[in-house]
Amino acid sequence: MSISEKIKELHTTLPNHVTLVAVSKTKPISDLQEAYDAGQRVFGENKIQEMAEKWAQLPKDISWHMIGHVQRNKVKYMAEFVDLIHGVDSFKLLKEINKQAKKYNRIIRCLLQIKIAEEDSKFGMDASDAAYLLASAEFTQLENIQIVGVMGMATFTDNTAQVQNEFKHLKATFDDLHTKNPSLEIISMGMSGDYNLAIEEGSTMVRIGSSIFGARNYTSSN
Ligand SMILES: *Cc1c(COP(=O)(O)O)cnc(C)c1O
Repeated sequence: MSISEKIKELHTTLPNHVTLVAVSKTKPISDLQEAYDAGQRVFGENKIQEMAEKWAQLPKDISWHMIGHVQRNKVKYMAEFVDLIHGVDSFKLLKEINKQAKKYNRIIRCLLQIKIAEEDSKFGMDASDAAYLLASAEFTQLENIQIVGVMGMATFTDNTAQVQNEFKHLKATFDDLHTKNPSLEIISMGMSGDYNLAIEEGSTMVRIGSSIFGARNYTSSN
């Protein structure tokens, strides 16, 4: 299936309450343009510099999502345009995003990344850290960021029951945080291999790369 056929298929099959983030990391501008022409407006990248280069070249009505781990010293390169940062896992990072957003007089939307996988390599906070952060006085003083939900990555495994449990854990964490923070609305979970399961478990935002754009060729540091 071509990129545009895949985009159109996803637009017709995904439930209306689920946002599709087309994960275009490592892919050339021409691939993103094809997805754009098929109606896709939300793109996810995991390298700030690569996202900034693509932003400069593509139509300005694209919503850019940073889905990768964010280094604080690079926030300044995306503060002008990023629409949603998925991987926020510390107050220090949030403070830096707030500071950079202020320079552009913007409010940048963020998701708290919750650690749901067993693997040590996956970033994220635990549920109690997230609750503590949202209740803290320091947090309420940040006027140029808005926390709109949570994000999680399941363990990379064929064990469907385990992945399902990890998704359930993220949904339960969201529900718990939501009681005190009713403005939270997004649960970002699910990728090419597991997005149907994620949607069954309550996902409202799926991040799909390879099943749209094909397998990625990893060269240097991607
Ligand atoms: C690369 C990536 C995806 C997309 O993965 P696919 O398996 O290609 O769909 C989703 N989320 C994050 C955080 C990623 O880094």
